[in-house]
Amino acid sequence: MQVASMHFRKRAHEKLGDERLQRNLQKIKGKFVAKRRAAITELDDFEATREAGRAIRQRALDDLDAWLALFEANATARGATVLWAQTPDEINRLVLEIAFRHGARKIVKSKSMVSEESALDLAIEEAGLEVVETDLGEYILQINGYEPPSHIVGPALHKSKEEVTELFHRRHGTPRKDGIEELCLEARAVLRRHYLTADMGISGGNFFVAETGSVVLVTNEGNASLVTTLPKVHVAISGIEKIVPTLEDVATLMRLLPRSATGQSISNYVDLLTGVRGEGEYHGAQHMYFILVDGGRTGVLASEVREALRCIRCGACMNHCPVYQAVGGQAYGWVYPGPIGSILTPMYVGLENAHDLPAASTMCNQCGVVCPVKIPLPDLQRKLREQAFARELRPWSERAGMRAWAWLARRPSLYATVSRVGVRALRLLRGGNGMIRRLPLGGGWTRGRDMPAPAGRTFRELYAARRRGGDLP
Ligand code: SF4
Repeated sequence: MQVASMHFRKRAHEKLGDERLQRNLQKIKGKFVAKRRAAITELDDFEATREAGRAIRQRALDDLDAWLALFEANATARGATVLWAQTPDEINRLVLEIAFRHGARKIVKSKSMVSEESALDLAIEEAGLEVVETDLGEYILQINGYEPPSHIVGPALHKSKEEVTELFHRRHGTPRKDGIEELCLEARAVLRRHYLTADMGISGGNFFVAETGSVVLVTNEGNASLVTTLPKVHVAISGIEKIVPTLEDVATLMRLLPRSATGQSISNYVDLLTGVRGEGEYHGAQHMYFILVDGGRTGVLASEVREALRCIRCGACMNHCPVYQAVGGQAYGWVYPGPIGSILTPMYVGLENAHDLPAASTMCNQCGVVCPVKIPLPDLQRKLREQAFARELRPWSERAGMRAWAWLARRPSLYATVSRVGVRALRLLRGGNGMIRRLPLGGGWTRGRDMPAPAGRTFRELYAARRRGGDLP
């Protein structure tokens, strides 16, 4: 997928001015937040489960090479072939080699974010083969000219029912449907034909289990079950970090994933696929391949933001992020949006191509609080901000401002004096409603919102007054 993250600021402004998008974002705002909140209360001790999830994912990353070797041995013993892709381009090459080896002409696909990294669908089409996305959201985006996804769980969440109605009418040549159920039935009828005539299925993988050589797929639509069992060839593609040591670990992570993602106790379908179809077995592919992708992951593992690799792609961080909710996922300009995207994208495509993303955060830490595997997202964003500053990637005015602030902060008496003058000056700028309409040197901040005027005294002054038992303003 083409990287447009270097244009985040421009894209974010465009998205903020897109009235239709803003209406759609308002409709979904908070939807998953409330459901998640209700779902986590079902567990006796959600925080203890969260800590267990963190430990499982960290254990996998701490000995990643050993778990990957064990996975390869066990998957191979069950008749599967394990292949390794160093770069996104290698994913495409390996998939096409497999397709041509088995004479595949039509490929059905369930959701795989890693394949978005390599724009696999376009590579398949360029090679003269047919590919059909079967996740409903991905299908909508595909028939709308390969529009980029806006959310890792619901790729087409930014689209309204009316937009999908028009799209299906235009692309399927069918009468316009009113209800969501009718639209789903229409997509199902179209996709069913493809499942039954496909030669090869491609899936992602939520977890790869080292002790059994299995892939675990978690869906609500059941499309992954059909993609992976009806065609004679199944290719599962995923990043190397998705490994987990044992099936018991999967059971623990499954207590966290659907609850954090969609507020469900369990998703509608959980497929656990091990090896090729055996003698006398009714289901399963005759040929099974795993493509395990580095694509920058070993670089992340060796970096100071390695904890980001614990991610289980639940999407909770973006559902709770005020920046994501305001601009939507497509503003981020690559595969992974929201707080986790603001860390993974610069690491995978280069900080110089995405240095605005770690800055796209209010540091409110809602993402860190809800992350089911306890990734300290704001801390990692701050580390990338520091790197961007040190590499002089940020605008000179920002760097000069930070240097001036750092110089001042090292001189406490002067800092206190400047702060005292500053808050009093800002208070003079307040309007009748106690708000500042236009902030000097911070016009960007007040262009879209008012800023509450400060109290007129600094925090230190207020604190000292309270300790003395004096009145507060
Ligand atoms: S960073 Fe945490 S909250 Fe965000 S998608 Fe990954 S696991 Fe979920």
